[in-house]
Amino acid sequence: MILAEHKYDYKQMDKGYANQTLYLNLSENTIKVNPVTQEMKDKFIGGKGFDLWMMWNSLPKNKKVKWNDPENEICIAHGPLSGTSKIPGAGKCIVTTISPLTDIIVDSNVGGYFGPYLKFSGFDALEIQGKAKEDIVIYIDGENKVVRIEQLDDLPQYAHELTQFLTEKYARDDFDKSRVSVITAGPAAKNTNWGMLNFSWYNKLRKYSSYKQAGRGGIGTVFADKKIAAIVCHSTNKKRNIHPYDSKLLKKIGKAHNIEIVHSDKLQNEMRTVGSAHLPEIMNEYDLLPVENFKFGKHKSIETEKLPLHRDVWRKFLANDGTGTDYCWVGCSLACSHYVKKYRVKTGPFKGQLVIVDGPEYETIAGCGSNWGVWDPEWVLEANFYCDTYGIDTISVGTGIAFVMECYEAGIINKEITGGLDLSFGNAKNALELVHQMARGEGFGTTVGLGIRKMKKVFADKFGGDPQFLQDIGMEHKGLEFSEYVTKESLTQQGGYGFTLKGPQHDEAWLIFEDVANHSIPSFEDKAAALCWFPFWRTWFGLNGLCKLPWNDVKPLENKTLPVHHPETGELYKAKVPKHVDFYSHYFTAVTGRKSEPADLIRDSERVYNFQRIFCIRLGKGLRENDSNFPYRGIGPVTIEEYESRADRYDTELAEKIGIDPTGKDTQDKLKLVRQYREDRYSKLQDAVYLKRGWNKNGCPKIEKVKDLDIDYDDVLEVIKKHQI
Ligand code: SF4
Repeated sequence: MILAEHKYDYKQMDKGYANQTLYLNLSENTIKVNPVTQEMKDKFIGGKGFDLWMMWNSLPKNKKVKWNDPENEICIAHGPLSGTSKIPGAGKCIVTTISPLTDIIVDSNVGGYFGPYLKFSGFDALEIQGKAKEDIVIYIDGENKVVRIEQLDDLPQYAHELTQFLTEKYARDDFDKSRVSVITAGPAAKNTNWGMLNFSWYNKLRKYSSYKQAGRGGIGTVFADKKIAAIVCHSTNKKRNIHPYDSKLLKKIGKAHNIEIVHSDKLQNEMRTVGSAHLPEIMNEYDLLPVENFKFGKHKSIETEKLPLHRDVWRKFLANDGTGTDYCWVGCSLACSHYVKKYRVKTGPFKGQLVIVDGPEYETIAGCGSNWGVWDPEWVLEANFYCDTYGIDTISVGTGIAFVMECYEAGIINKEITGGLDLSFGNAKNALELVHQMARGEGFGTTVGLGIRKMKKVFADKFGGDPQFLQDIGMEHKGLEFSEYVTKESLTQQGGYGFTLKGPQHDEAWLIFEDVANHSIPSFEDKAAALCWFPFWRTWFGLNGLCKLPWNDVKPLENKTLPVHHPETGELYKAKVPKHVDFYSHYFTAVTGRKSEPADLIRDSERVYNFQRIFCIRLGKGLRENDSNFPYRGIGPVTIEEYESRADRYDTELAEKIGIDPTGKDTQDKLKLVRQYREDRYSKLQDAVYLKRGWNKNGCPKIEKVKDLDIDYDDVLEVIKKHQI
């Protein structure tokens, strides 16, 4: 049944912009096309910038909108640079909404073909408001220039089946399947706060629609709450040119970048053959791999070379018949998307069947492997498959269940509470049973799926857990579960998680490797500076529809020999991968015609970054107190066991940095002294970062900063005026 239909025309695609956005209201069954203004392009660029601008203007200003209010929106936008095959990784889009976990803005950068297809269908962004009464499918037909809200009977509930079903339904023939991209959630998105979205692309070699995930912050939960079963975009084949300003320059820089990637990747991270599955042994080596709810940073007894989650183990699982390596958008020479072709499922509704598993990515391996004390790669694949098809985020599931396991071992919960499940570390089968319960909406799994923040309250109020201990070991901040890095020994990464806009997710400021392994952010001053430049720079990719991986997951060979600081300005240099930053300023100029130096890109990004901060303040959070109260396990050792596992390091810190001789002191006393020192250091870094960002001590952007960034709109000033000190 068609509930609404709207016919439209394209506007002239120009310098990367389709020049209009698509708005749907599901409560009212209305569809509308809005223009993209010059101000939107100049100040908000695209992608997340457009998402935020649309939400800022569409959400009522007289109420603090909650995630499940009909006024909340899901916005999906790409950016001016997306949709070209000349730039590696130019197929991303950004999904933005108010999160059920954090009550503030959350955004997720995702691959698959949806973003470019939306652009080719005539839109720079999709804005969805309201709630449908029954499950609906949104169909954007770029070929025939029509958008529909439809109700379909007998839709499969599992994401991998629904994706294949809708790809076939809307494709005219086999060849046409590659022009269809589908967004789905899954049954667990309805029953938990960890819902995520799968964005598909049809792979002709695999003859299958693979997908990438917009994972974080419960975006899929909002999708399910709006009763959206799927969004389908069917692209036309005719409008694929994004009409760049200078196509010769675009081609020249793209060629240099692609040659470098193909040459260097095999000498560096092997993204083209194993993807991010190369990371577990590196993280293990540097004591950064989360093990047993972030207590430890490495396997307790097995040497790194023999790690059961080593890249060589994954190499054997990944399809190696020529269909395994792929790009999640055309022309990405880093091509890190891989899959396992035949995995025989051990549990749940697909038990015994051979299925395809997209991935696994590092975060899933660490979250649903080492962090659970699970070292069998097959169980990681089991969790990967079910989280995807149930529509839940493997990072939150990984970190959330790791927390539950520690609570079980500490005696805070027991079999009576868990419905008979032994949830000790290492118990993969029972962890999977929790995941199945989330999909069925029953049992202890539904308590777990509330997220760590709410679980902490339930465990304290109902089961008598010590609130301080739960706070110390519950690895969430702002309500979002940590992504999979042990931050205890990296002050920079503590800031990279703690002073983020949306919560501890590595995409905003992944600095741990530069800090701990490359030592390229050495001083306190450098750390504060890094926590400005890197979040701004990383935000820039999300304004333009780009993947960050081709920036620093493969580096120019000469980057190794660069000095840590720029010889003339003294600014951080090596960690920024300056040659690639230059590439991106050329790409931006070549597509949009805006002549830009790297500093111009940073300024554009800083503007949107501050705007998002102010949006969070408007929603009632986003100030100093929300950046504080970081779970102590993210800063230092909570338990005696943890302290003693790294006693040399902590004893040395006591002697050399704190000025206290550890000899003869018991571990409990030493724990307290280290804690005092480290928490104080976190707070000092917070002050230094705020100062550099042009924010006051309360974490609110100062009025002069907002004026300087040219976003001093009346309603923006109204939000921040009351927080000026
Ligand atoms: S690097 Fe990987 S994730 Fe990024 S665009 Fe290329 S294939 Fe997709």
